[in-house]
Amino acid sequence: MLWSGWGDPAKAADLPEPIRKLLHEVLGVRPPRGRAADFGEVRLPAVALSPLVLTELRGVVGADHVRFDDDARIRHTRGKSTPDLLRMRAGDGSDAPDAVVLPGSHEEVLAVLATCAAHRVAVVPFGGGTSVVGGLVASRQGFAGVVALDLARLNRLVAVDRESMVAEMEPGLRAPQAEQLLAGHGLTLGHFPQSFEYATLGGFAAARSSGQASAGYGRFDDMVVGMTVATPRGTLDLGRAPASAAGPDLRQVILGSEGAFGVITSLRLRVRPAPAERVYEGWRFESFAAGSAALRRLVQEGAVPTVLRLSDETETMIGLARPSEIGAPSAGAGCLAIAGYEGFSEVPALRERVAAVASGLGGVYLGPGPGESWAHGRYSAPYLRDSLLAAGATVETLETAGFWSNLPRLYEAVRLSLHASLGSPLVMCHISHVYGTGASLYFTVVTAQADDPVGQWEAAKRSVNEAIVTAGGTISHHHGVGRDHREAHAFEIGDLGVEILRGIKDRLDPGGILNPGVLVAPEKSVS
Ligand SMILES: Cc1cc2nc3c(=O)[nH]c(=O)nc-3n(C[C@H](O)[C@H](O)[C@H](O)COP(=O)(O)OP(=O)(O)OC[C@H]3O[C@@H](n4cnc5c(N)ncnc54)[C@H](O)[C@@H]3O)c2cc1C
Repeated sequence: MLWSGWGDPAKAADLPEPIRKLLHEVLGVRPPRGRAADFGEVRLPAVALSPLVLTELRGVVGADHVRFDDDARIRHTRGKSTPDLLRMRAGDGSDAPDAVVLPGSHEEVLAVLATCAAHRVAVVPFGGGTSVVGGLVASRQGFAGVVALDLARLNRLVAVDRESMVAEMEPGLRAPQAEQLLAGHGLTLGHFPQSFEYATLGGFAAARSSGQASAGYGRFDDMVVGMTVATPRGTLDLGRAPASAAGPDLRQVILGSEGAFGVITSLRLRVRPAPAERVYEGWRFESFAAGSAALRRLVQEGAVPTVLRLSDETETMIGLARPSEIGAPSAGAGCLAIAGYEGFSEVPALRERVAAVASGLGGVYLGPGPGESWAHGRYSAPYLRDSLLAAGATVETLETAGFWSNLPRLYEAVRLSLHASLGSPLVMCHISHVYGTGASLYFTVVTAQADDPVGQWEAAKRSVNEAIVTAGGTISHHHGVGRDHREAHAFEIGDLGVEILRGIKDRLDPGGILNPGVLVAPEKSVS
């Protein structure tokens, strides 16, 4: 993973010339004043941990698995939001952990937590490092240091219960490794977020991720049937039946807890047979409203493809719906929907049902071309972000969800807010996940970088967060809360809701060492 950008540097994407022209002519983008910092120029704070703590941590996980060299610290600094990347490009390593600790077992995680609690050291659980909500930055105030707890060594497929279709897997597995291991058993999870190449199973559970094929396979939290969690107070083992009326479901307390309540050390996950057939197709609708109505009807009538998404007019025009084919913007293209089918003999009949509903609601069938192009480019957009940042544009994404009846209001509220804060940015949107009752909206924003691009985006983000909650949407459908959404999340769940979360944290983590500042504000801290 590129330390200051996204992904494999060998896959870096050049900006197509029409896009470069559009940036300059329409958005007034100019090359940034300074050059991006080199790796060696990143400013890191001195290691704050005492030799005693380092010795004790080495005693727990072994000397090779406690690292405090610059390389390890820089690669565990923050996540991969646009402000995160802009700060790294500016050489700002101020949020770097003091050390990176790599435990090899659940017991080692418990022992690391005990050591850190005893010495008041903050612990940031670290999966793939792809958080886009500030989920990997700990408040230092009141702590003797910060440790990134990298779960990469917990990377086994422990067992497959073929009869129940449940796989026990460790949290440090990256999604491609997990899929490869399951493929050996003819199985799949079916979880394909855009961060697929780098994100881990533990991160998916901790941040309640949702993949591009969620219409068919479900969200990641739907897949978790059980889990083991290490907390400073001991072990939680949750989920012993497919369904249960034995009180509130404590798995739901850990799902989405973003490392603030405990460290997930094992997951029992529902798996599916690996599909024999994959077909992705395109449909065109006259407008976003017409396409939304068709998606709603499909999901409410139970004619649901595995992948179902709809780009608005702007996203369709720019071509971001198919990142592998971005070129000259084409006006009047309507709105592109992608329907993907992953399955077996049921696929042809489902395609026919979908076609009947979609064409009955004004959809025009575009064949497999746009669908295959989307499938081919589905992981490439983040590579384009690096080139846009280098060219002087700020590009960032944000997401929300709402009920169908409120979706148009939410869509307009987000667009208006972004236009009010950023002048005339390019705002693109697609419906990324659908439910019987509503859908999520995923926005991509492009604007010219101001002199202080981080401050520029943070101000816009504060306004748009407020617009989302005021318009009745959730502050996050799948990115999580982290630090960036904490205030808006508190508004969404109310004072009593925050109190409940804080109470749970206090019980599981009395010293408050786990990811301080993420999800819930530290009680007496200002940060
Ligand atoms: C380019 C890009 C595209 C993305 N696309 C999507 C998408 O399509 N869908 C989507 O849902 N998200 C997406 N994301 C967001 C991100 O990938 C998800 O939030 C993902 O779940 C994070 O996984 P990770 O392994 O990288 O976790 P990290 O970023 O390492 O951690 C995320 C949070 O979980 C905590 N955590 C990590 N592991 C554990 C553990 N084992 N136990 C307890 N806490 C833990 C961390 O402390 C942190 O607060 C995208 C991000 C990027 C940068």
